Amino acid sequence: MTIYTGPVFEMARTQFGLIAEHLEIPHDERDRLLYPKRAVAVSVPVHMDDGRLVVFQGYRVQHHLTFGPTKGGTRFSSTLDIGEVAALAVWMSWKCALAGLPYGGAKGGVACDPPALSRRELEAVSRRYMQEMIPFVSPQTDVMAPDMGTNEQVMAWFMDTYSVHEGHAVSEIVTGKPVSLGGTEGRREATGRGVAHLVRRACDVIGVAPQGATAIVQGFGNVGSVSAYTLARRHGMRITGLSDHTVALFDPSGLPLDAIERHVGKHGVLAGFTNQMTIDGPALLEQPCDVLVPAALERVITAANAPRLRCRILAEGANGPTTPDADAVLDERGDVFVIPDILCNSGGVIVSYFEWVQDLQRLFWTEAEVNNRLEHLLDGAFVEVRTRALERRTSNRTAAMAIGVEKVRAGKRLRGLFP
Ligand code: NAD
Repeated sequence: MTIYTGPVFEMARTQFGLIAEHLEIPHDERDRLLYPKRAVAVSVPVHMDDGRLVVFQGYRVQHHLTFGPTKGGTRFSSTLDIGEVAALAVWMSWKCALAGLPYGGAKGGVACDPPALSRRELEAVSRRYMQEMIPFVSPQTDVMAPDMGTNEQVMAWFMDTYSVHEGHAVSEIVTGKPVSLGGTEGRREATGRGVAHLVRRACDVIGVAPQGATAIVQGFGNVGSVSAYTLARRHGMRITGLSDHTVALFDPSGLPLDAIERHVGKHGVLAGFTNQMTIDGPALLEQPCDVLVPAALERVITAANAPRLRCRILAEGANGPTTPDADAVLDERGDVFVIPDILCNSGGVIVSYFEWVQDLQRLFWTEAEVNNRLEHLLDGAFVEVRTRALERRTSNRTAAMAIGVEKVRAGKRLRGLFP
């Protein structure tokens, strides 16, 4: 029996099982590597604007503390459950290890629908959630960050709630804060920037000229929008498809990104931009393009649509967008270069690490320094994954996960049973 159930945790478990077989990890060591060190579930009672008292469910899962604090985002989403949070925490561990960061993985969140909350209600949810987490987090045990449904303002409320409890400003308790509160230059853009940088590296590997290449991006939040802007404005790509939870747009001759940016800046969503160029959301993923960037949800590329993908590079901006069954199809096809999530979207946690380091030292870097260091770490991880994939004749995902799992396993073997 385990509390970690549901399709997203099942996916993380299946992926880990495949890697454990690949690495021939003894069976009695596997549960210790997979299951989180601890999980916390809390009630988050809030007085709503209409006078009702509503109790939201909040979670935090800390996967392992072998190398330092755990690190991971906070997701506000109406369907959130502890299995999803645990899966995301497990993936964070392999991601941090692959990037060489002194962190274990964590994840947390509240089952709520942020667009349906007023700003006051969102603040109340955020502050009460952090209040409940105070006994379980600290800059040395668990450092939170934004994820789907949360942003810099939510991180500012988290930081303030923790700091009020401590009696002084503790900026290093969260990352992804506003720069004025000890956030780092470049954090907001880091994940999308990293996605675009790695797409550029993948283009070189498979011989695609970025200038004029086409890209489709699913999700137009933090990761999706910055990925699209950077692919277009820095690398000269043509964005032919975009979607969010309201609508999907497709135009083979290229979407007007500047006008879309202005529209989303004003209205928050893609809906209402145009009645033309619309397409069914799932069908967007199957349109021809050089680069496909899923940057929204888990499990959107499945065994059903994987045979129909018409991209050359699959750049996983989201966590867990591709199911293990779909991986098997893509491996068999062999014509899609996959940049696996734990590599592709690691720019976010890498710059979060830079933010934490700067906060601890009270010494801040320029955006150019942040970006140079980010690219340096991403390049190192990309080369490590490619080298291993070529040497062992495995997929990029198997190589990336094997590196992450091996590093965590080595640390645990050296330390013993505690962390
Ligand atoms: P976000 O809340 O800023 O944006 C999410 C986007 O997905 C929104 O545009 C939303 O409309 C869209 N979306 C939701 N349902 C959709 C659907 N059915 N079809 C198309 N679009 C849909 O979240 P984010 O921070 O950009 O995170 C996106 C993904 O990237 C998540 O998997 C997250 O875990 C992962 N990620 C985020 C970061 C980060 O730094 N923010 C880092 C690493 C990984």
